[in-house]
Amino acid sequence: MVGKAARGVKDTLPHMRNPAFSENATMDLPSIDLGSACTVPPPAWPPLCQPFAALGPEFSVPVAVSPLPDPMLVACSADAAALVGLQPPRCTEEERLWAQAFGGHVDTLSGGSRATVYAGHQFGNWAGQLGDGRALLLGEWPDAENGRHSGGYPAWEVQFKGSGRTPFSRMGDGWAVLRSSIREFLCSEAMAALGVPTTRALCIVGSTRPVRREELETAAMVTRLSPSFIRFGHFEHFSYSGQTAALQRLTDWVIARYCPQCAGQPQPALALLHWAVARTAELLARWQAVGFVHGVMNTDNMSILGWTIDYGPFAFIDAYDPLYTPNTTDRSGRYALGRQPAVAHWNLLALAQALLPLIAKPDDALQAVDGFRPQFVRAVQQQMAAKLGLEQVDADDGVLLQDLLDLMAANRSDWTLTFRHFSRLSADAQAAIPPELAAQFPRQPQAFAAWVRRYRARLQRERRSDQARAQAMDAVNPVVVLRHHHAQAAIERAQAGDFSEVRRLLAALRKPFSPDAAHAAYAQPPAADAPPACLSCSS
Ligand code: AMP
Ligand code: MG
Repeated sequence: MVGKAARGVKDTLPHMRNPAFSENATMDLPSIDLGSACTVPPPAWPPLCQPFAALGPEFSVPVAVSPLPDPMLVACSADAAALVGLQPPRCTEEERLWAQAFGGHVDTLSGGSRATVYAGHQFGNWAGQLGDGRALLLGEWPDAENGRHSGGYPAWEVQFKGSGRTPFSRMGDGWAVLRSSIREFLCSEAMAALGVPTTRALCIVGSTRPVRREELETAAMVTRLSPSFIRFGHFEHFSYSGQTAALQRLTDWVIARYCPQCAGQPQPALALLHWAVARTAELLARWQAVGFVHGVMNTDNMSILGWTIDYGPFAFIDAYDPLYTPNTTDRSGRYALGRQPAVAHWNLLALAQALLPLIAKPDDALQAVDGFRPQFVRAVQQQMAAKLGLEQVDADDGVLLQDLLDLMAANRSDWTLTFRHFSRLSADAQAAIPPELAAQFPRQPQAFAAWVRRYRARLQRERRSDQARAQAMDAVNPVVVLRHHHAQAAIERAQAGDFSEVRRLLAALRKPFSPDAAHAAYAQPPAADAPPACLSCSS
C-alpha cells in the first residue's frame, strides 16, 4: 500500500537528496507499509552508469553478479552512504532491502556489471594476468556534492567484492568470507576517518553460503566505492602483453578523468607518472604515520590514484617493530612496516616500466621515479613533526625522530598510545614526564628521560603554548585505530550471528581522535603476552 505518511517522507529519499538525480525526483515511488516503527518507502537506488565499458572490450567483460543466499546486512557506513547521497537504513525492513540490494538481488544494481583485467608483480615476481577474480564493477554514482567528498572527482565507482566467479578467477571460487570482508569494511572506514586516502566501504552483507578456506566459513560481500579501481597492474597488463594502443587508451582515460592537468603536458604519460609518484609518496607517509602495514603491496594492489586499496592481511602496529608484517605468507618480510616506502618505490619502477612505450626517453621515466624518495621523506617528516607537535621541520629533527623510533622499537612501545601520550608532556624541563608516557619505555627509562631533555630543548624553538600544542597533537594522533584483537572480537561475534560488535566498533572508528567515553575500550592495546596478529592471504 502507498500510505500518506510514506509519500510525506519522499524528500528524504536518497535520490532526492542528490541534485545529480533530480531527474528522478518526481518519480512516484511504490511504497510498503513497514509498521509503526518505520513508515518509509523502500530505498530507490540511484541509477548507475557504466562509462568503463566504453573503454573497449580489451579492458573488461560483462559478468553477472551471483547473489548471496539469505543476505543479511552486517553493517552500513553512514559516512560512505553520504558520499553518494544515500540514507543508511533506519529500520529492520530497510536493512532487509539493503541486504537484498547489496547482496546482489537487485537487477538495476547489477545489470551492467563488469570484471576488469589487470596483471601484476607479486612478491617481486611477474605474476602475469590477474584481474577481478571476485570483484565486479557495477558502474558509478555521482558524488553527492559534486566532487567535494571524492577530492574533486565527479563520481564514485561502485564495486561488489565477493560476488562470484569471473573469467579472471583462475583457481579461486569468486567468494569472499565474512571474516575478511569485515576487516576490509572496518579498515576502509577507519582509514578514511584518519584522513588516509582509501577506497571506501558502503556496506557489508553476510550470507549462509558455505565457503571452504582453511576451515568451512560463510560468504559475504562488501560494496566498495572509489573514484577509480585502476591499479598499477592495469597498465602492466597492456604494456607487457604488447597492446600499446590499449595502453595509450587506458592512459588517456585515467588522465582525462583523474588528472586532466597532465593532458596539457608535452608528454602526458610522463606527467601521469610524476603525478602517481607524488600521490604514492604522500600515501606512504600517511601509512607510516598511523602505523599501518598493508601486508600485500603487490603492484596489482597499488591504486593509480595513490589511495589504499585491497585490504587483506593488514594491521595497525601495536608494539612498534619496523620489521613487523602480519602476513604469514610473507616469510622474508618483504612488506614489513619499515620496508613499505622502499617497496612503493619498487612498485613505481614497475609502473614506469609499463609506461615506457608511451614515454620518449627511459631516463625521463627513471627520473620521475627518483622523485619518490625526496617527496616521501618530505611528507613523512611533516607527518612525524606534526605528531610530535612541531610546527616546522628543522634540519636536526630527523636524528631526534630516529632516536625516538629506536627507543620505541627497543621498548616495544605502543605506536598509537605513545604518540597520543606525548601531548601531555610539558615543554617545561622541571615538569615530570606523564606516567602513562614513561610506561611506554619500561626497558630504558633513563635513555628515554635523556631523549625527553633533547625534545624539550627542541620545543624551545616552537612558539605554541603547551595547551595549543597538545590540541594540535591530539588532532593528528589518534586514540582509536583498528587493532587486530578488537577486529577479531567483532568477527567472532558476527560469525555467531551477532553483528552489534561490528557496528559498535565502526562507530568508534568514525571518531579516532576524540572517541566517545563509551568507546574508550577500543583504545586498549592487546595484552602484553598476546602474540602479534598473524594473518594468511586466504580470504
Ligand atoms: P589479492 O591477493 O586479494 O589481491 O588477489 C590477487 C588476485 O587473486 C586477484 O586477481 C584477485 O581477484 C584474485 N582472487 C583472490 N581471491 C580470490 C577468490 N576467492 N576467487 C577468485 N579470485 C580471487
Ligand atoms: Mg588484490
